[in-house]
Amino acid sequence: MISKGGSEALLQTLVDTARTASPDYDILLPLFRLLAKVGLRDKKFGQKALELEALDVTLILTRKNLSHSHNLLHCLWVLRVFASSVTTGAMLGINGAMELLFKVITPYTRKHTQTIRAATEVLAALLKSKSNSRRAVNRGYVTSLLRLHQDWHSHDTFNTFVMIRRGLLLCLQHIATFRSGREAFLAAQGMETLFSITQNCLDNKGMEPVISVMLQILRQCYPESPLPLVTASSAYAFSVPGSIAAEPPPALSEEDFEDEGDEEVEKDSDSEDVKEEYDDLETDVEKLSSKPGLDRPEEELMQYESMCLELSYSFEELESKSGDESNSEDSQYTNHHHIPIAASPKQHCLKKDQTSWGQEKEDTVQTSLLSTVKMGRSTVHLSSKKRPVMNIYHDMQSKGLGINSLGNDIPDIQTSPKEDAWDIEAISCPRMSAFFSNSTSPREAGEAIDKLLHIHPKHIPFHDPCLYMAKARRTRSVVDFKMVAFPDIWGHCPPPSAQSMLERKCGVQRIKILEDVQRFTQPSDVINKVIFSLDKPWPLQDTASSCLKFFSKFESGNLRKAIQVREFEYDLLINADVNSCQHQQWFYFKVSGMRADIPYRFNIINCEKPNSQFNYGMQPTLYSLKEALLGRPSWIRTGNEICYYKNHYRQRAAATGGASGKCYYTLTFVVTFPHDEDVCYLAYHYPYTYTALMTHLDLLGKSVNPRQVYFRQEVLCHTLGGNPCPLVTITAMPESSSTDHLEQFRHRPYQVITARVHPGESNASWVMKGTLEFLVSSDPVARLLRENFIFKIIPMLNPDGVINGNHRCSLRGEDLNRQWLSPQAHLQPTIYHAKGLLHYLCSIGRRPVVFCDFHGHSQKKNVFLYGCSVKETLWQAGCTVSASTLLEDVNYRTLPKILDKLAPAFTMSSCSFLVEKSRASTARVVVWREMGVSRSYTMESSYCGCNQGPYQVCKLTPLFNWQGLQFGTSELEEMGAMFCLGLLILELKSISCSHQLLNQAATLLNAEDALDYHLQR
Ligand SMILES: [Zn+2]
Repeated sequence: MISKGGSEALLQTLVDTARTASPDYDILLPLFRLLAKVGLRDKKFGQKALELEALDVTLILTRKNLSHSHNLLHCLWVLRVFASSVTTGAMLGINGAMELLFKVITPYTRKHTQTIRAATEVLAALLKSKSNSRRAVNRGYVTSLLRLHQDWHSHDTFNTFVMIRRGLLLCLQHIATFRSGREAFLAAQGMETLFSITQNCLDNKGMEPVISVMLQILRQCYPESPLPLVTASSAYAFSVPGSIAAEPPPALSEEDFEDEGDEEVEKDSDSEDVKEEYDDLETDVEKLSSKPGLDRPEEELMQYESMCLELSYSFEELESKSGDESNSEDSQYTNHHHIPIAASPKQHCLKKDQTSWGQEKEDTVQTSLLSTVKMGRSTVHLSSKKRPVMNIYHDMQSKGLGINSLGNDIPDIQTSPKEDAWDIEAISCPRMSAFFSNSTSPREAGEAIDKLLHIHPKHIPFHDPCLYMAKARRTRSVVDFKMVAFPDIWGHCPPPSAQSMLERKCGVQRIKILEDVQRFTQPSDVINKVIFSLDKPWPLQDTASSCLKFFSKFESGNLRKAIQVREFEYDLLINADVNSCQHQQWFYFKVSGMRADIPYRFNIINCEKPNSQFNYGMQPTLYSLKEALLGRPSWIRTGNEICYYKNHYRQRAAATGGASGKCYYTLTFVVTFPHDEDVCYLAYHYPYTYTALMTHLDLLGKSVNPRQVYFRQEVLCHTLGGNPCPLVTITAMPESSSTDHLEQFRHRPYQVITARVHPGESNASWVMKGTLEFLVSSDPVARLLRENFIFKIIPMLNPDGVINGNHRCSLRGEDLNRQWLSPQAHLQPTIYHAKGLLHYLCSIGRRPVVFCDFHGHSQKKNVFLYGCSVKETLWQAGCTVSASTLLEDVNYRTLPKILDKLAPAFTMSSCSFLVEKSRASTARVVVWREMGVSRSYTMESSYCGCNQGPYQVCKLTPLFNWQGLQFGTSELEEMGAMFCLGLLILELKSISCSHQLLNQAATLLNAEDALDYHLQR
């Protein structure tokens, strides 16, 4: 009807009928009803009405019928559709529609309420136009609307006319979209009025339609303000070569953040996935399939020869070497072989006297990795075999952390330390200088450490506090950290049970937002006392005060400022990345001086991402010093009432060159600490420092049997901050130095794995830890892998970022994973040399089978791979695909398919093989394009956890309900090991796989019938 000119015909009829001397309402009323329906579907209805002069006649009819409610209602229906177009709405406003409507909208009455409701809706629609809103402000309608609303609210005690109140509020909401409207609202005490109504009615279900609008108005009108910081730039600056390449924050127009719904998180968790944007796809076939030339002079590649000694070394010592093992000094740090799987807590708690590799045969490989492979998706089956799943937080609450709720899994320390005997502060932050013999007063410090280490409760595989301290001294930070965080020295043992995702209680966010609004409406209740700041001379805190104490000047720590807001509430600000003014997401800080059993609210108020897994079941992590001393040294997920939402802070206009500032988000959570006067650490995710890596690599190197495992750690290059970036080579030693054996040894294909280019993605390091420990382990799969491949691993591509508490960048304030196209040795040394090493391998005909870069993902759950495919990219973009492109091998899909079957945390469904323009300079795309590695991947692990496969639990109460698991470090480490197993299966499935390997694998795998099914070729 619309396409055949129906709207015009009806409108013309309206105009003709209305202009007669005495209009016939028997025609007009059905006509109005019809117009209201058609108008909803006709996008150009307002324009057509304007052209045919239907606006004027309708306004005239409305005016005539002010006292004739039934006719009036019909007129209003049509005005409502007219007003849905902003231009037409503006025209109606000019012609006095708003004044007319205010004659209809009366204070509380029980008469003609349908008409009043329709009038509020028309008025709300009109106020979407800026000119109407301005007019409304000038005529004092804001105050009138507030009074009308107040009147209806106080009389309508049974919520009979809740939709009229909602209509009035929508009028206010639209006015508040504009600055002048907000100012008028504030001047009319709107905040106070709506706040007190909302506060009193929060639990009233009948008021739901008005509460949500009131909250939106309160959020919209909360005056914007800059962050309480002297400058958005990082508190840490570092002089770097070249100009600092920090990209300016994207300037947003006012509308970008003013007109959103804002109830962004009360939605269901299915909406969390960021919508894929296909206009970023690379559709230039030339760019997709051409191979660019070498990015440096060819002779430069020769420097990497020395990083591949395995290709030239003669192993003469192999023949002569007899049974004499490593010297006694070595075995001091030696750890047990350890297979990183999430299955058995026993393996995490080996006694210290079992630690030399010589004893591996009896008790290491109780379970091969193969036995833990997920079988199909029969979740109940597997999860019953897995570690018990429970809610640690709940357990803490009910029993207190002091009770080992899981019985005998974790042996307590032999001598429980008397808490008062310890200077908790001194233990928690040892002065690094005092730790070493060259210090002036070494004795007390030495004693403290001796005592500390004497009671060190538990042997943590591949961790050693003494070695950690020694390594920490060599770690170079921008501001020269003097302290070491206790959890990093003491070590972390995965808690005995995995933690399910936090169920979000309905309405939590409203309560939090109202508490925030209360700061504005009742400012006298707010303390607003700065108690910690990197920008002010230390210390700010008087020791006697009862408020919490904060600290973050240690490796990976990055709290910039803490402000006490109320007695038990703190605003926290995270430091921006060094030499940058953005990227706040990662956090790690120390908090002390707490009382047990008090819920403390923390608000991190300068987060940047528009949404977060914190809205979908993720909790931050906590480490308690007292718990550690009691034999439970664990980072655990903690916190309740967690929400992540946009706040009223905006970046100063000056910082963006005059453009309207970007907005910030608040992460809020409530923590109830387990002990009085404890020292706790809170972090975005399980921390993993550069020093931890260096300690780990040393211990790994010392743990291997040098006659079986070839493990070499060397320096790829030094970072801008002066830290060595380690490169690790792992393979099996040749059986002897005979020519045949050396041939086999030197011809093993390469696998290249990198991680942690993004410092905030500590999950990537835990996955890498699992990979490394598995590769040197005595698991038969690991043995086969070593005998058939040479692994080149760069476990931390951005040490400086990790050390200095960055989330995203290097010391130059740039994202190193956007520098792979043309890295420069003096600006991005780790990328330059990682790429150089890969180029070198290709140049000698040893292109890696697989390249994979481990990352963490903040928006999605599970673990998945991103790969590269020309065909899939062009298809997705809707481009025509040439015949040659059609021939593209789909071998890039094999590894993710294998992992989907093997690894509990992995899911194929989130994998993608599209090449985006914005990713052209990432490791994955560059290694694929420039080196021709078809299996070039990014592996993303969620910060949150799993909501598919075996890692979910079935909660039977109150309803049958599948619930995901948050990742613990065990699950991440297991993923690292599973990735290796995936590489073996990938080889077994390839045509080039040797008969010998197939036979060896068959023997191994037949014993584990679990895998038979997966190995069908
Ligand atoms: Zn990343």
